[in-house]
Amino acid sequence: MGSPSVTIVGGGLSGLSAAFHLSRRFPASSGARITLVEKSNRLGGWVKSERARVKDRYGGRQADVLLESGPRTLRPASKAILELIHLLNLTTSVLTVPRTAPAARNRFLHISGARGLTKIPGSLPSLLVSPLVKILVPAILADFRRRNGRVLNTSQANDESVDAFLTRHFGSEFAQVFGSALIHGIYAADSRQLSIRAAFPAMCRLEENGKGSIVRGAISDMLSLTDTSEGLTYHVGDVAQLMKGVSVYSFRDGMQTLTDAMTNYLKQQQNVVIVKGDGAAALAKSTTGDGFQVTTESGKEIVSSHLIAAMPLPLLHRLLAHSRSMSPETSQSTSPPPGSTHNAAPLRRPSFPHPALSLKTGIRGRYMVQSHAGNSASSPSSPTTSTPSPVPLLPHLLANPSSSVTVVNIVFPPSDKPIHPDGFGYLIPRPQQGYPSPPGSTLGMLGTVFDSSALSGQDISICADHRSPKFTKVTVMLGGPYGPPSPAPASPDFLPTLLATLQEHLGHDQPLPEPCLVRVREHQDCIPTLTVGHVERMAELRAAVKEKWGENAVVIGASIDGVSVGDCIESGRRAALEL
Ligand SMILES: Cc1cc2nc3c(=O)[nH]c(=O)nc-3n(C[C@H](O)[C@H](O)[C@H](O)COP(=O)(O)OP(=O)(O)OC[C@H]3O[C@@H](n4cnc5c(N)ncnc54)[C@H](O)[C@@H]3O)c2cc1C
Repeated sequence: MGSPSVTIVGGGLSGLSAAFHLSRRFPASSGARITLVEKSNRLGGWVKSERARVKDRYGGRQADVLLESGPRTLRPASKAILELIHLLNLTTSVLTVPRTAPAARNRFLHISGARGLTKIPGSLPSLLVSPLVKILVPAILADFRRRNGRVLNTSQANDESVDAFLTRHFGSEFAQVFGSALIHGIYAADSRQLSIRAAFPAMCRLEENGKGSIVRGAISDMLSLTDTSEGLTYHVGDVAQLMKGVSVYSFRDGMQTLTDAMTNYLKQQQNVVIVKGDGAAALAKSTTGDGFQVTTESGKEIVSSHLIAAMPLPLLHRLLAHSRSMSPETSQSTSPPPGSTHNAAPLRRPSFPHPALSLKTGIRGRYMVQSHAGNSASSPSSPTTSTPSPVPLLPHLLANPSSSVTVVNIVFPPSDKPIHPDGFGYLIPRPQQGYPSPPGSTLGMLGTVFDSSALSGQDISICADHRSPKFTKVTVMLGGPYGPPSPAPASPDFLPTLLATLQEHLGHDQPLPEPCLVRVREHQDCIPTLTVGHVERMAELRAAVKEKWGENAVVIGASIDGVSVGDCIESGRRAALEL
């Protein structure tokens, strides 16, 4: 690509990563122009870390605690994140949890009907004394003995749910207890809906290598020390060394360290423009036909040769449908497709013109950010001489549902009796009889993270005596397949119900102490459930982008390339390097 102009729509992790890697590939001296358009007033999407001062009402002790309302921990396997840490000089901000730490070794389940928590065994001796032995040992043996069973061949259009896959290998009890709990923790979703090929492609590889057995596949992988990385080069510097023996990690000031650092880097680049608080309201092919025109809610027009759409697919669908409905060419024929479930408020019609625009951006030349002189009636000498044509709709944008999650950060005052055991936290399997019906009829707890066990370095004690007991911070996740919590967070019954449930799960006889901070965040449609067939559908979507929008456009993000932070960073990186 020569000196492109690129518009990135969506400033979450995926869009930021694309902008960051593009600006490294095309510095100001290259003549390229990069515009990042974000609807909300802040960049980072679901990533949000905040500090709060907490005070113990009786002892007078205080601390500055870090509260995450989105992602909180990362696994060192993603080289794309390690590379970002290296390139953005974030090494000294990293907080690691070694594999030997209790927070890495102690993970729990709360099994309905059992009192308190059940530790997931992490070694053979602990397996033998675990109450879970009666599920785990038969499951492992059943898989190990599998011969000539069905194998999901990764080269065929073949997929099934995580639940069906695990049931085939390890039995239905294992799938219900371990599989559903794991999927609650990562996707806040129903494992009977989630695609194994989209969520855990490595499992399909193990099945194939083990000729039908995941256990045999894993053993042969370990013996051959196969390098499963795709041979891509990442500049990770000494961060790889830092991650030796690490289970999970985060940053002293939380996950937002990553998005803030990318934002600050982009702000320093002369050829990068960030448009915040002003989402894309219409998307069209530019009048010359070889580029794109994004019109924002306030009426800014951004014309570029290349386009990266980095927003959730249902919102992209809404943007495309809205763009078509505004266009005289297509407004007659555009109606929402059947099965459209996205119920967000309609996009605002762009208000033209936007007088402050050219002053704000000061961009000249082929790349243009312009005031619109009254929809299609631009003067002939203007670069936008005729009506831009709306970009065609794409398939499968509404194929996947999304989970909504209520995140509750709770801080308990210092106490001599620990609130929870030392460990990462616990997950709750799907009820044996399935999710209660109708959705929204229970509290719907998916799991709880013991934040101060895993990453206590994020909290700063404001207390002379450092040996005194510390505040305890936990995060409870509610919702997903259970629907919205009942009682609702606004109800006076919500907190007492939540605390009583926590007390029961943690096996306390007495009520838990009164928290000194409770913060509730309700995230609507925040994690896409990549349902069975996702990989094939996304291949079709990518092909349709190339065919209908051209080689200069790409669609990226959690709802296409995978939901983990690593997936999103990788998605943006790949787009920047391949566009
Ligand atoms: C509660 C929670 C906990 C999580 N925990 C973890 C974890 O511990 N580890 C992990 O690896 N992952 C975790 N994840 C997943 C991960 O955080 C997300 O998948 C990731 O942040 C998604 O990034 P994205 O950029 O693809 O999408 P988003 O964050 O959704 O970003 C899309 C952006 O597009 C913007 N946008 C939308 N419409 C428009 C428009 N018309 N014009 C311009 N901009 C627009 C939005 O405002 C948003 O900023 C968690 C997610 C959630 C919600």
